Amino acid sequence: MGLENCANCGQLFVKNSIRDICENCYREEEAAFEKVNVFLKKRENRTASMVQIINETGVEEALILKFIKKGRIRLVQFPNLAYPCEKCGRPIKTGKICETCMKELRTDLDSFEKERARQAEIAEREKTYFTMDETARRKK
Ligand SMILES: [Zn+2]
Ligand SMILES: [Zn+2]
Repeated sequence: MGLENCANCGQLFVKNSIRDICENCYREEEAAFEKVNVFLKKRENRTASMVQIINETGVEEALILKFIKKGRIRLVQFPNLAYPCEKCGRPIKTGKICETCMKELRTDLDSFEKERARQAEIAEREKTYFTMDETARRKK
């Protein structure tokens, strides 16, 4: 426990482990979540888009995205809802990045591994040359 600045409004507050925002902001956030939740619970709103939710509830997009990322709003139930991939901004429904970026990341990792193996091989070869050199010199 210690004093910290609220991540939302910047006011000093006593931090506890689960929140990074002050009591006031927390209450506001909960009220906003309730609004979104009530809106989304209605059957006719299942197909709502992000813009519709923002317009209907008055809750800002950043906050709605926060709820989604925390898993408080489950996107599987809502065909028209998505949030941006952290790398390219393409709309996704699960995880942090889209499938394309995931594949790219894997390829990057692969080539990184290959490059490292190549470097190690070169280093190994140089070491051998050096040793041969040394032996040759000593023989003279
Ligand atoms: Zn605050
Ligand atoms: Zn992406």
